[in-house]
Amino acid sequence: MVMKGKKGIVLGIANKKSIAYGIAKACQEQGAELAITYLNERFQKKLEPIAEELGCKERLYPCDVTKPEEIEALKESLEKEFGKIDFVVHSIAFAPKEGLSGRFSDITKDAFNIAMEISVYSFIEIAQKLRPILSEKASLLTLSYYGGVKYIPNYNLMGVAKAALEMTTKYLAEDLGRDGVRVNAISAGPIKTLAAAGIGDFSFMLKWNAAHSPLRKNVTIQEVGNSGMYLLSDLSSAVTGEIHYVDGGFNIMGMPAVDFDENGKPKIAWNGE
Ligand code: NAP
Repeated sequence: MVMKGKKGIVLGIANKKSIAYGIAKACQEQGAELAITYLNERFQKKLEPIAEELGCKERLYPCDVTKPEEIEALKESLEKEFGKIDFVVHSIAFAPKEGLSGRFSDITKDAFNIAMEISVYSFIEIAQKLRPILSEKASLLTLSYYGGVKYIPNYNLMGVAKAALEMTTKYLAEDLGRDGVRVNAISAGPIKTLAAAGIGDFSFMLKWNAAHSPLRKNVTIQEVGNSGMYLLSDLSSAVTGEIHYVDGGFNIMGMPAVDFDENGKPKIAWNGE
């Protein structure tokens, strides 16, 4: 039981397809005690059965990251419940629809600010407000995507937010490292979730990844969950400031691999159906 005795908070479970749910489940299965959050009352009811399943029915807290008072209240609740916490999962992102399709040069300042506040600044603010209750060897984790490093069609505004989030991870890692606290990100391959549904042509992205990854498949929330659990556990005690790819190897490819048929003719790898 790798996570036995560890207590932590997971932000960003919308439903059982969420990456955060995969991470929470992996941690719970390895003995962690959890608290989880919901965005607003509309989502509270939906999350109650999930909280029950994860053994944290009594630790289901509201947290809209655009409301500093809710992050403050979350800290108070966690302190009362756990004293100190050992891990934090930040699995939150949002960009207005106009930022996830169409021309990049049309993005408005309002859309930009909303995406940066919810998808990037929230990680800093959570680290800042929860810092007093982080245990000596605490581990923080956020979620990124390859569109923050290279151009991905339609990822547009979220690509800029993920680039900022990845650097935020590194600067936080240096800053909190002096307290023994680690900060990492997982860059996950595409997975069909609620957030992903907002990205234009997402199903094509899934097909392309499955076809052109070394492992020739898409990743699951269980696979991201297990890698996340490792980064939150003491197994990764010397790992910080990393952007850890869990993408079937997609990011190493400079060009799609070409398989040849029995006649020596190239065929384009394509098993994404
Ligand atoms: P998801 O299930 O929709 O999770 C996104 C979460 O962000 C939801 O729980 C959502 O809450 C929450 N959220 C949005 N605005 C918020 C706010 N103001 N305050 C608090 N929470 C807020 O989708 P997901 O794919 O698992 O996304 C989780 C993370 O993984 C995101 O950072 C995403 O960019 C990243 N990621 C996803 C993929 C992918 O292909 N799916 C790949 C790489 C990285 P509500 O649903 O209640 O609004």
